[in-house]
Amino acid sequence: ERKAAVEAAKGPGATSDGHKVPLLANVGGPADVPAAVEAGAEGVGLFRTEFLFLDDSERAPSQEKQAEAYRQVLEAFPEGRVVVRVLDAGADKPLDFLTPADEPNPALGVRGLRTLLDHPEVLQGQLRALAVAAEGLPVYLEVMAPMVADRADARAFAEACREAGLSAKFGAMVEIPSAALRARSVLQEVEFLSLGTNDLAQYTFAADRQVGALSRLQDPWQPALLDLVATAAEAAAAEGKSCGVCGEAASDPLLACVLTGLGVTSLSMGSSAIPFVRAQLAKHTLAQCERAAAAARAAESGPEARAAAQAVLSGE
Ligand code: PEP
Ligand code: MG
Repeated sequence: ERKAAVEAAKGPGATSDGHKVPLLANVGGPADVPAAVEAGAEGVGLFRTEFLFLDDSERAPSQEKQAEAYRQVLEAFPEGRVVVRVLDAGADKPLDFLTPADEPNPALGVRGLRTLLDHPEVLQGQLRALAVAAEGLPVYLEVMAPMVADRADARAFAEACREAGLSAKFGAMVEIPSAALRARSVLQEVEFLSLGTNDLAQYTFAADRQVGALSRLQDPWQPALLDLVATAAEAAAAEGKSCGVCGEAASDPLLACVLTGLGVTSLSMGSSAIPFVRAQLAKHTLAQCERAAAAARAAESGPEARAAAQAVLSGE
């Protein structure tokens, strides 16, 4: 009986009425995989590959070294989904050999996909390493680009993936308000969206994520951020495509319910948060999550949005 309870506690993410919301893990490399498996993650929703690049300040790791690390993560989720994010260098994650040293405002500078489009050999090396790593594995590989601003960015990334001969789904992270506002146009080029709510908050509220004094403006409960999440999720639904969240917002159990109510199709988070999000989601129906989402969006501030959602979800 206890075993059954433990198994149920590790089952797939779903609302109490059975609306499935896959719960995925954020990982930085093979070392994070055991915790993800232990938490019952249904796959990886964000593999932050930049950690592999931190050892050498002069060049990218060899294709062999990259392929080995990617394969170790892919092998851990047979039949599962693994979403690999290509290198997100710059701003809060500068790399000496790629990031311009003299930018006046690195968060608004050459970072993420912008860096990779300036260094196509680094992007091709990474995509080819991924193709090698995935060969022969039954995993559903998905590859996404950070910091996609518009349809042209999404197209450039999709073209690079095709050039590398990668057999995977290609996606775009939504971290810049322009990409959320024009999500439908971005989706003409890629097959899925993943909301990076940490950066999306930074760019929506013009509040540097590294400045602690601005934490009020980094709060993912802010209704303007919820509006952008809804815009992206609705666009994906209209296109018949998926739209996950892989920012910190997904790890807040109450906010996870609200995101579900906004139409988000999967949630990816640090492994330690998965059991808490799974338990909270299982307490509410999809309709309740939708009502909580509407109440949060109708609020005037982050704290009020949280209180409004809490009132809806606990009053039932
Ligand atoms: C984000 O911006 O929300 C995100 C998931 O990416 P990172 O935190 O690595 O910038
Ligand atoms: Mg980001």
